[in-house]
Amino acid sequence: MICIKMKILLIEDEPDLGVIIQTSLSHHQYVVDWAADGKAGWEYLTKDRDTYSLAIIDWMLPKISGIELCQRLRAEKYTLPILMLTARDRMEDKITGLDAGADDYLVKPFGMEELLARLRALQRRVPTFQPDRLQLGNLRLDYGNNAMAIANPAGTERSVSLTAKEFQLLEYLMQHPDRTLTHDQIRNRIWSLDTESVSNVVAAQIRLLRKKLAEFGCENSIETVRGFGYRLNSPDCHQ
Ligand code: CA
Repeated sequence: MICIKMKILLIEDEPDLGVIIQTSLSHHQYVVDWAADGKAGWEYLTKDRDTYSLAIIDWMLPKISGIELCQRLRAEKYTLPILMLTARDRMEDKITGLDAGADDYLVKPFGMEELLARLRALQRRVPTFQPDRLQLGNLRLDYGNNAMAIANPAGTERSVSLTAKEFQLLEYLMQHPDRTLTHDQIRNRIWSLDTESVSNVVAAQIRLLRKKLAEFGCENSIETVRGFGYRLNSPDCHQ
């Protein structure tokens, strides 16, 4: 199964390890923001609750420890999966980490292949993390094949494949129907913070997505809200 990759927040204070993780996850199509201490990590996570789908949190961090971050996030009812990183490997430490709200635990040093495997496992394990599909009106987003599809009344289906960015954009819009999402919200959700600042990156991506929607005759479902952003109205697509 091809998985559309989500946006991840990495909170790690070791510069070398941070670079390796960010680079290697980016090579695997994840979008990764990196915070170098616990306080920065907390600010990234709480600025907009929807931005990140998963957090990789080091145990020993300056300012706010990884354990305290986990506890705070769970106390605030954040449900995003958390993978803890740590050099500690004693059983009681693992229990402390899991009790604090971490979903999984990876002991340093580890290989990138193992980290990637743990991320895939979290995707499978946490039911809210990634549904098989997302439906709005008669438009459906399929996670299995990175495609959007519609079914006509006769029951036949047609699907159009999407690029990773088109998929992530449509997913975000479909998760918030009839709600205006600002340029900043869209940008923060789909691109990493260190992406070159291109002012029209969101508008350009919306244009590409509308082109795909035009194949179903529902490109107008994405409404431009001048000066704010975009809103997806319940789509009425057809073949
Ligand atoms: Ca550390």
